[in-house]
Amino acid sequence: MTVFLEQNKGYVMGDKRTDYISWDEYFMAVAKLAGMRSKDPNTQVGACIVSQKNKILSMGYNGFPIGCSDDEFPWARVGETQETKYAYVCHAELNAILNYRGNLEGAKLYVSMFPCNECAKAIIQAGIKTVVYGNNKYDGTPSVVASKRMFKAAGVEVYEYQYSGKELKLEV
Ligand SMILES: [Zn+2]
Repeated sequence: MTVFLEQNKGYVMGDKRTDYISWDEYFMAVAKLAGMRSKDPNTQVGACIVSQKNKILSMGYNGFPIGCSDDEFPWARVGETQETKYAYVCHAELNAILNYRGNLEGAKLYVSMFPCNECAKAIIQAGIKTVVYGNNKYDGTPSVVASKRMFKAAGVEVYEYQYSGKELKLEV
């Protein structure tokens, strides 16, 4: 199902719209929209942090730190560590946390992919209590195993986003 935002099927005068998006759809869509800013040729991840009252507090996507040019730093996945992206790239979750200058205690994080162990540490230390992830394509890898172990120990609730099958189409 594709939702065209300019349409409003089934609208009855005086009634509210019926085809509006849910909170979960809204925040996962915002996370994915942020991911579209990534210059990474292989993996685009987006994150969105939300307060307990469903206010968006911060967003982030995977990219190099401020001042580290996307044109000068390497996007390669193999080679000497300092010649690969892994030495430099800042993950979406970490960027979203660092982009916010306030208190994230009790907040909820939406992210398009299950957090790695490094981001899991930052999520826990920031006080984020809920993680909603879009996919877990690296499930079973040492990094994800470590993330799950830490989330469990720290009492962070983690759940998989349930896709509704809706497709949003935006003209930009
Ligand atoms: Zn990470």
